[in-house]
Amino acid sequence: MTRKKVLVTGGAGFIGGNFVKYMVNKYPEYDIYNLDLLTYAGDLTKHQDIEDKDNYHFVKADIADRETITSLFEKEKFDYVVHFAAESHVDRSISDPGIFVVTNVLGTQVLLDAAKLVGVSKFVHVSTDEVYGELDFDPTTFFTEETPLQPNSPYSASKASSDLLVRAYHETYGLPVNITRCSNNYGPYHFPEKLIPLTVSRVLNAQKVPVYGDGKNIRDWLHVLDHCAAIDLVLHEGPNGEVYNVGGHNERTNLEVVKTIISTLGKSEDLIEFVKDRLGHDKRYAIDPTKLEQLGWKPAYSFETGIAQTIQWYLDNKEWWEQIISGEYQKYFEEQYNV
Ligand code: NAD
Repeated sequence: MTRKKVLVTGGAGFIGGNFVKYMVNKYPEYDIYNLDLLTYAGDLTKHQDIEDKDNYHFVKADIADRETITSLFEKEKFDYVVHFAAESHVDRSISDPGIFVVTNVLGTQVLLDAAKLVGVSKFVHVSTDEVYGELDFDPTTFFTEETPLQPNSPYSASKASSDLLVRAYHETYGLPVNITRCSNNYGPYHFPEKLIPLTVSRVLNAQKVPVYGDGKNIRDWLHVLDHCAAIDLVLHEGPNGEVYNVGGHNERTNLEVVKTIISTLGKSEDLIEFVKDRLGHDKRYAIDPTKLEQLGWKPAYSFETGIAQTIQWYLDNKEWWEQIISGEYQKYFEEQYNV
């Protein structure tokens, strides 16, 4: 049997990085190609434990660079593509939307063209629940796969645009695609601009933790390894053209998440500093994962166990996030929060 070649874009980032590790270890019979531009959000130190394995390969490239991507696909003839690469931070999309269109929209279209050219067996596009817009605080309402796309931020608008292109390549050209739309992830190697690692790193350094507005915005949290298992299932079992929402019914206000971290670390809530709200801040996200559960997925982590393990991971891996929060990141942080 010939070995399957799997292209994972954005495999030096948070979720893609966890997915690359998961695939390299779970499928020694697959060759996993991690393609990443290594922007501020990507780093390869997270792959020190797998970089010497025969089935791990790294390619530094920009997904929006049509010539490079096309010739790579022509050379390697990938069987599967799992597409994570993106500009992923809402706050950055508010201050500089242009790069979100280039990477998330144009980059996805370049990949779709290359996938169509060589005839891949599956293209999984990793998207987000943020494409659905926001829910109000009624706890009985959820995003389903039928919810209309009503993105509110430049980030979610660029992701929704890429979702529509993926759908169109299936409808028009018959490209075998799936789209997954996941809620907020947490876990190891999360870049410290995002709420959970930001809070852990600030608390550990006895620094103020900025919380937007009144902290009552609700997010639905899922452990990154549960997300990886969902994508693995969709890649292998998802009927072509189907969309799957991914979420574990772990709704928490931002303030609850911050307070959980502070109390787990045994520190004072005086560290919390409420700051001016994010522009267009979505009130609530909550996922109905029934369709994915019917395909055979069930999350393994409760939020309580997952968050405790994640906090411990940040305690054990200080050198990883400390090198990130020095230098450029510090400048970004001060401009963003004014604290
Ligand atoms: P991340 O920002 O941690 O990682 C993104 C990776 O993409 C980085 O390694 C970066 O170097 C790479 N990249 C950026 N531009 C590139 C380009 N032009 N060419 C090649 N590589 C490029 O993001 P993440 O949080 O791991 O999210 C991964 C994907 O999952 C994104 O598509 C995001 O929309 C989606 N998603 C994220 C969440 C979440 O909670 N973080 C939830 C649902 C969906």
